[in-house]
Amino acid sequence: MNIVLRTGEQIDLPSETATIQFGMLCAEQLRGHWFLALHGDLGAGKTTFVRGLAAGLGCVDSVSSPTFAIIQTYTGTQSLVHCDWYRLEHESELDSIGWDEFVDQNPFIALEWADRFPSRLPATAKHLQFEIIDDRRVVTFGRGW
Ligand code: ADP
Ligand code: MG
Repeated sequence: MNIVLRTGEQIDLPSETATIQFGMLCAEQLRGHWFLALHGDLGAGKTTFVRGLAAGLGCVDSVSSPTFAIIQTYTGTQSLVHCDWYRLEHESELDSIGWDEFVDQNPFIALEWADRFPSRLPATAKHLQFEIIDDRRVVTFGRGW
């Protein structure tokens, strides 16, 4: 995969494998700490992308949808935090888990359904939009890249 990680770019993801490889590429190419804010409907490929991120960071735990847990951490060479706000009903739940401190303390975070509480995303968040357009699956780089 020869792609530029830049705001406004759009990449075709013709297979599940392509989505995983794109996640691996992001994990390998991004420097320093990162927070990835993932957008897209149910089934668009967000969790699949996180599987690639985890593989790219050398995580050994298997990735599942954290819908019920809200936060899952996969460990290995480096740790990946996988969050999902799909079932989070009230912003106050973020305060009870100490969300802001949590974000500061974890270097690699990917969040599904990031649009639910946009004011709680770090200013440095890198946004990715996953979509199915007709029968094509694509990912578009939003703000932060
Ligand atoms: P989300 O987390 O956005 O709800 P998932 O990552 O769980 O979506 O993906 C939903 C389904 O789509 C899964 O069965 C997954 O294997 C499949 N899938 C993901 N990316 C692709 C792709 N690029 N091409 C084909 N199928 C894909
Ligand atoms: Mg998901």
